[in-house]
Amino acid sequence: MSELISALNRRGVNFIKTVDISMLSVKENRGYSVAILIGIVLSEGYIFRLSKGNIADHSEFGGKEHLVNELADWTADFIITKGYKAFAQSEKNLLNGFYDETTKTTPLPHKKIAILAGLGWIGKSNLLVTKQYGSALCMCTILTNAPLPIENRSIIMPKCGECTVCKDICPTGAIHGSTWEPGMNRDSIVNVYHCNGCLKCLVNCPWTQKYIDNNIDKQNECRKG
Ligand code: SF4
Ligand code: SF4
Repeated sequence: MSELISALNRRGVNFIKTVDISMLSVKENRGYSVAILIGIVLSEGYIFRLSKGNIADHSEFGGKEHLVNELADWTADFIITKGYKAFAQSEKNLLNGFYDETTKTTPLPHKKIAILAGLGWIGKSNLLVTKQYGSALCMCTILTNAPLPIENRSIIMPKCGECTVCKDICPTGAIHGSTWEPGMNRDSIVNVYHCNGCLKCLVNCPWTQKYIDNNIDKQNECRKG
């Protein structure tokens, strides 16, 4: 595992979590017992530019989404060379029969694996929100039967409170403002057919803004020092 972690970190992955998924239905886990979640964080400078400039710029988001998908494929290949089974839930693999175009769903979303890892909660935006980075993350997952150490944590319930920033800022009215709870239907939270992918909910979430404020403060302190 340490060899894999080092290799992924060198390639730009910021966090890796491994969780037991054997308790899930076969439809979800497809017979695999472990899921690996890999994530790349969006830079504070990029988020800052999007939020202050009110501009549509998918360059870094698109680039990091592409990279994390490629690294999921790379991880699956790495595990297979070690003699285990692995399946990367990369976009290209999911589009090959595991993505329902009509409902825009996959059997086991990356977010569900992130929740099992205790990485964050599902916000009113229907995005994963974390204390450390807000929603400024690109994630992908790999399913495997490799005997990896597992890190399942308790489910974190939403910490959105009375906030409605994402609902209020959404230009298409896609976000309903509902608070997530386990088992809740996605459609009760967001109308994915109305979402235009503008990233405003991601960028303007107070938890994402806290991430950039913390890091910009740290950078200023370094410059002063
Ligand atoms: S990405 Fe844009 S359109 Fe989609 S839910 Fe978020 S704010 Fe609304
Ligand atoms: S903007 Fe507010 S309501 Fe929406 S996910 Fe972030 S904290 Fe929750």
